[in-house]
Amino acid sequence: MAESFDALVIGGGAAGLMCAIAAGRRGKRVLVVEHANRVGKKILMSGGGRCNFTNTGATPANYLSANPHYCKSALARYTPADFIAMVERHRIAYHEKELGQLFCDDSSKQIVRMLLDECADAGVRIETSCAIERVRHGDATFHLDTARGSFTASALVVACGGLSIPSMGASGFGYELARQFGHSVLPTRAGLVPLTLSGKHQERLADLAGVALPVEARCNGSAFRNFMLVTHRGISGPAILQISSYWNPGDDLRLDLLPGDDAYAWLQTQRTERAATELRNVLAERIPKRFAQRLCEHWFSSKPMRQYRDAELREMAALLADWPLVASGTEGYRTAEVTLGGVDTDELSSSTMQSKRVPGLYFIGEVVDVTGWLGGYNFQWAWASGHACGNAL
Ligand SMILES: Cc1cc2nc3c(=O)[nH]c(=O)nc-3n(C[C@H](O)[C@H](O)[C@H](O)COP(=O)(O)OP(=O)(O)OC[C@H]3O[C@@H](n4cnc5c(N)ncnc54)[C@H](O)[C@@H]3O)c2cc1C
Repeated sequence: MAESFDALVIGGGAAGLMCAIAAGRRGKRVLVVEHANRVGKKILMSGGGRCNFTNTGATPANYLSANPHYCKSALARYTPADFIAMVERHRIAYHEKELGQLFCDDSSKQIVRMLLDECADAGVRIETSCAIERVRHGDATFHLDTARGSFTASALVVACGGLSIPSMGASGFGYELARQFGHSVLPTRAGLVPLTLSGKHQERLADLAGVALPVEARCNGSAFRNFMLVTHRGISGPAILQISSYWNPGDDLRLDLLPGDDAYAWLQTQRTERAATELRNVLAERIPKRFAQRLCEHWFSSKPMRQYRDAELREMAALLADWPLVASGTEGYRTAEVTLGGVDTDELSSSTMQSKRVPGLYFIGEVVDVTGWLGGYNFQWAWASGHACGNAL
């Protein structure tokens, strides 16, 4: 005999747990089915173990989607202030790191604990290590056959997340289910991910792995000013992770190595004020020394500043302000924080997250084609979409 619930939630991650809490609070009998041995694994590893659980400045402009309007309704109805209120109710200490990013002072375990306590209060049942064998639909009822028995409900919420970090339980199951029920899935790719370099950039930069510098990274009309980190295989750091979500193979990627400055005016000033100093030493005051030296070995020739003609300064300034880098690819899902693309929002209701094709079927969180920037935006989408769905079940 299958056990009956009001709603079955597949995936005990950020979105699934929030959805279950909202529905449970409204008296719904909810079962969360999680195939990993514990819920919230990505929450645990997020934010370097301190979970960047929201961003106080989150707006729809911080999300990528084929339909940029889709996320608006849910984000407006469950705001960062709503999640902060829950965090404060549970007396979890937190701080703002930069740019509205809120982190736990202590550990991301506190966020998982909070969600589990809220689930318990709301009467939500959670089954972990529960592999799903089959999902069926008939007579307006969803049937789940799992390693821990069979369950039925009139509502099924797909909250399986994306493909990033398979070792943490990520699977393509949400996309498979979407297709099983006739939904379109937009092409997926790794986002918020380090980029790999090849050819001369790789050869010239690889041994600088570990060097970090502020840059403005630009691609396809988007720009992010933050740190870049050189890695053994390419480049990473917040500026690169952000721009990686806007980059497709073959796209032009540019770096401003003197962000916020007029490179030509700066070089002219250096020529006037430090005429006898060599370029490599001048640059080393703005850019990490090893990186500056490498630029002078391969891209510029270093000589005392007074020896540069205006045209040479202009050429160098152009390169410093708009350095073209040819990325060969990304590090892929193994290290990506998110998956871009996913279940097409055109076939979902933006207020309830319900399928327009199959009544009672819902998609929330990362499995949907809504992807946030780095900095707490992805969890805010998970909370907001989970909350919208939980209140509609
Ligand atoms: C290393 C890392 C750090 C991150 N740090 C941050 C951060 O600090 N701030 C931020 O906003 N975002 C961060 N993110 C992104 C954030 O974790 C995700 O956007 C968010 O977890 C998505 O929530 P979700 O509930 O949709 O998916 P998930 O949290 O991935 O949850 C999906 C759940 O479904 C389960 N599942 C999958 N397949 C099945 C199946 N077949 N049957 C049953 N269960 C299944 C998974 O095991 C998982 O528990 C980070 C991501 C990574 C990888």
